[in-house]
Amino acid sequence: MRAASYPSTGIQPINRHKISTESPIETVFERLVNLIHVIWPVNHEVAAISVASAGPLNPKTGFIYDAPNIPGWKDFPLGDKLREIFPVPIFIGNDANLAAMGEWKYGNGIDHSDLIFLTISTGIGGGIICNNALMEGHNGLAAELGHITVQPDGLVCSCGKLGHLEALASGPAIVAYVRLSLLSGQTSTLHLDKEFSAYDVALAAKTGDQLAVRAYAHAGFYLGQALASLIHIFNPSIIILGGGVAQSGALLFEPMLEKMYASVMEPSYLQDLEIVPARLGDDAGLLGALALARQKLQNS
Ligand SMILES: [Zn+2]
Repeated sequence: MRAASYPSTGIQPINRHKISTESPIETVFERLVNLIHVIWPVNHEVAAISVASAGPLNPKTGFIYDAPNIPGWKDFPLGDKLREIFPVPIFIGNDANLAAMGEWKYGNGIDHSDLIFLTISTGIGGGIICNNALMEGHNGLAAELGHITVQPDGLVCSCGKLGHLEALASGPAIVAYVRLSLLSGQTSTLHLDKEFSAYDVALAAKTGDQLAVRAYAHAGFYLGQALASLIHIFNPSIIILGGGVAQSGALLFEPMLEKMYASVMEPSYLQDLEIVPARLGDDAGLLGALALARQKLQNS
């Protein structure tokens, strides 16, 4: 996990630090508290602490319903526990939602009032800026864009439900497509007896491996289908794509755009629509949390 302290304007940090989330002797929460102490700017007054966390979570209370990759963070009252220790306002948001907010305020989405952000890596997350505001939903659970159903009764998603976008277009989904195809007798430069990642599949595709090309085309097809639906609902002026899988370039984007264009019902939706990669990279969560804190402080 990473943390930084920022001045009241600008995005140049005063202090920043990064540590591994796991430790044999400390809980994740203890490590987080220590990390906040490390970056605490001793010569400045601290206006707020803002956290971009894995979820689902409730941003109004800072209650984590379930963060599957963080041990002990199921039904975990992160906001209340931080408030017991730090006497400043505490703001908490879903990491993908806040990455959308970071891109909107400080990245490639500046000056857009209607933005869709999608991050495609081990999972698929997202965030939506609609009419100049981050969409949170009634319980703060909005914009889980990886869990849109794109294939009824399709493959099992990490959430346990069937046919969600994440089960068809995430990094593990691309690897699974290749492995299943190899099991059914298709040939490739990738082999079942060796571990490989979505990045390895992209490298194989770039050397002409046709199964690897099809794996990305398959993922791109479902992404394009999901984006067309999102375009119909939100009519964005920009779609920003982040995460490692989105860095595969035309391999993913060409089939994605082909399906998206074919599925949009009216060309006006595509007028002025920009589709661009994310700019903030690993800092998306930090800058999103910064944007959230500044917005909350401004509104308070
Ligand atoms: Zn799902």
